[in-house]
Amino acid sequence: MSDAAKKALITEVLLRDGFQIEPMIVSTADKIRLADGLVDAGLTSLEIGSFVHPEKVPQMADTDRLVRELRPGESVALHTLVFNERGARRAVAAGARHVRLIVSASDGHSRANAGVSTAAALARLRPAAELLTQARVGIEATVATAFVCPFDGETDPGTVVNVARELTGFGIEVLHLADTIGAASPRHIRRTVSAVRSAFPELPLGLHLHNTYGMASANAWEALQLGIRRFDASLGGVGGCPFAPGAAGNIATDDLVNLFHHVGVATGIDTGKLVALRDDLRALLGRRLDSALSAVGATPVALQRTTTSDLTYVMPSQAARYGRKDRGDEQQERRGGHGIGAGSP
Ligand SMILES: [Zn+2]
Repeated sequence: MSDAAKKALITEVLLRDGFQIEPMIVSTADKIRLADGLVDAGLTSLEIGSFVHPEKVPQMADTDRLVRELRPGESVALHTLVFNERGARRAVAAGARHVRLIVSASDGHSRANAGVSTAAALARLRPAAELLTQARVGIEATVATAFVCPFDGETDPGTVVNVARELTGFGIEVLHLADTIGAASPRHIRRTVSAVRSAFPELPLGLHLHNTYGMASANAWEALQLGIRRFDASLGGVGGCPFAPGAAGNIATDDLVNLFHHVGVATGIDTGKLVALRDDLRALLGRRLDSALSAVGATPVALQRTTTSDLTYVMPSQAARYGRKDRGDEQQERRGGHGIGAGSP
């Protein structure tokens, strides 16, 4: 691998995808404290909110304020999500420098998430992209349900290519492919990434993974083999899609960093600081987190190893002392009666 191939860029989505589904509304002050901690741990890309209607997603009501108040320095990119022209106006007014346009590849999820078909959602994004371009805001895009849709089943790679074609016309800098419900396998990753790449060889690609079926790390590994070096992740595996009952959260930043460091891919992230922040997050949310490392209680020392020969993981029998609860039960409790009809790639 070249030096460039040995580095990955992780976008931490805790403040957006992570908190969007949480029953509790995390205060702006806590979000700012966590964002500062993430930057201190070495994260250089954070997704901090979404310009959606505050009544639909009350957890995101402070996005404008976060854009104004977070000042992480020039080397850190703060991303916010935009679905339409109104959102783009809010982003520009707040002073956003990086925006992600969101569209679902499948009509079923697009209707549930954005209220309109994929074609109509793309048409709505065009004036938003024009407005953002005029304001010199950097534009990326995320294609939701790029692999599997909870309503329409498997997403045809050709459909994703067609959506990508529209988005490239908007002047996007990066295209992220989202496994919104965490149902993709390495096979899906390979065929869709290959199709999009052969259609747009120069377009940088990223992956947004969820871990519903425990496949997120395998998918990240497959993506690494395909040359993908941009990944979204959420600290502690917090997050989830409201349209997949019992679905697990995003791929956990701590697990992804652990995988990357084991296989010699640098992230620039200080694992000790990351683990401390994750434990802080656990205290804030008042519940166990979904990352594998938070469950086994791996130490920062174990995380920092680059070979597997002498790891010091706490074994499962010891982990039982932490009073582990059945994951399914816990997720049902968290998500019972809690549905959000907007804003989830
Ligand atoms: Zn997501």
